[in-house]
Amino acid sequence: MKIIRADPAGFCFGVQRAYELARNFRGKKIQTLGELIHNPEVLEELNACGVRAVSAISKIRTGVVIIRAHGISEKKMCELKKKKVKVVDASCPFVKKIHAEIKKFTSKKIPILVIGQRRHPEMQAVIEDFPEVEVIQKISEKRLQKFTGKKVALLSQTTEQAEKFERVLKILKKLKVHVTPKDTICSATRERQAAAASLAKKVDLMIVIGGRRSNNTRQLFEIVRQIRSAFLIENKNEIQKKWFTKIHTVGVTAGASTPEKVIAQVCEKLKNL
Ligand code: SF4
Repeated sequence: MKIIRADPAGFCFGVQRAYELARNFRGKKIQTLGELIHNPEVLEELNACGVRAVSAISKIRTGVVIIRAHGISEKKMCELKKKKVKVVDASCPFVKKIHAEIKKFTSKKIPILVIGQRRHPEMQAVIEDFPEVEVIQKISEKRLQKFTGKKVALLSQTTEQAEKFERVLKILKKLKVHVTPKDTICSATRERQAAAASLAKKVDLMIVIGGRRSNNTRQLFEIVRQIRSAFLIENKNEIQKKWFTKIHTVGVTAGASTPEKVIAQVCEKLKNL
């Protein structure tokens, strides 16, 4: 069976930066606010290095707090800074850009629509700072009708699909909404999605590796399975031999929070099936 890897696939620069910061930080009581990366393997590794994930600011008293790539709201940052802790900010610049863009539109009093997953930490931070933002999780023309004839700004969570952004933009234009689009999907997401879609067209089956709670992994999976049969796995242990009956070529891709080690292990296991 031939195995082809999508390129790029796996860790993006934002996740790599946060991971290296946490892994190499020397000090006592190193904590991350929430899980640093939506990947169980990485979390275990960080745990072994003494980096603990803390679920809420109320549970933090002392030590070092690393802010993950998803970022946090200004409200939470202020709360943290009032504590006796050292804050290390590993928020991805692409995530910060969304907050900056929203600020510009709120100052002009323009309604803001953001395509994204309401419960994802990146969007929660946005909602905490800008509760007036309308999050579009499911695309519905009916829901957008209220904006006909009005000015709106359209943005996106960094890890959403470019195709969804274009679809919403098209609906808004059809409804004669005066829309200012600011496509805030990050380049790492775009590149991974494009490479995965192109590979899916050339193979018999796709394997997508990544945490099930990782939005960019789920989006990758959604994209490839519209093109080809696909399985989403978190690690090599989830591979089932029966998936590969009559399969000659397998494509492998991985979310931006999947480390190289996990991808290599999956490819190795596939080679030996
Ligand atoms: S997926 Fe994009 S926004 Fe998220 S950490 Fe990576 S580069 Fe940054």
